[in-house]
Amino acid sequence: MTSTRPRVGVLALQGDVREHARVLAGLGADVGLVRRPRELADVDGLVIPGGESSVIDKLSRSFGMREPVRDAIASGLPVFGTCAGLILLADRITDGIEGQQTFGGLDATVRRNAFGSQVDSFEVDLDVPALGAPPVHAAFIRAPRVEQVGPGVETLATLVDGDIVAVRQGALLGTAFHPEVTGEHRFHRMFLDMVEQRAA
Ligand code: GLN
Repeated sequence: MTSTRPRVGVLALQGDVREHARVLAGLGADVGLVRRPRELADVDGLVIPGGESSVIDKLSRSFGMREPVRDAIASGLPVFGTCAGLILLADRITDGIEGQQTFGGLDATVRRNAFGSQVDSFEVDLDVPALGAPPVHAAFIRAPRVEQVGPGVETLATLVDGDIVAVRQGALLGTAFHPEVTGEHRFHRMFLDMVEQRAA
């Protein structure tokens, strides 16, 4: 049986673009970097990487990408956001910089830099029932957390204190941490399944 490889874009304005591209390619996706509307029109799914959400926001506007990404999300394009990417998917954010906007689509409130300066970065083993065993080794780097979710949002993982750190809503997947930097590929696999389901 022949199957076409899903074509997945990584929004390549700023952030850890290469790490995502490497994981996706390793899972068999046909990966393209997306900086322009024409490149976005060519993909079956999009990853928004970690980095700095306020910078990606500004660059998306100067590259004429804000409206195309918003339209693509509204039309059901599968999108996976990690860390800054999760912030950019949220309909509502707290602690953004002055004038910071998001693409939106995810019915959630996300707090930027939620873990404060004393624990800028930490790693933890997370139980993710949708992925089964073993737990996900998750790296949080100046990470956000999800503070409120609407009824259509499924919580995929929480920290021990109940903080929501991974969510899914329809074709949108978001993690507050960086699976791409710890050798964890199951979230990307889940995302590619979402891309393949939509393409089918
Ligand atoms: N604190 C960053 C932001 O606000 C996110 C950090 C990350 O993506 N690792 O965008």
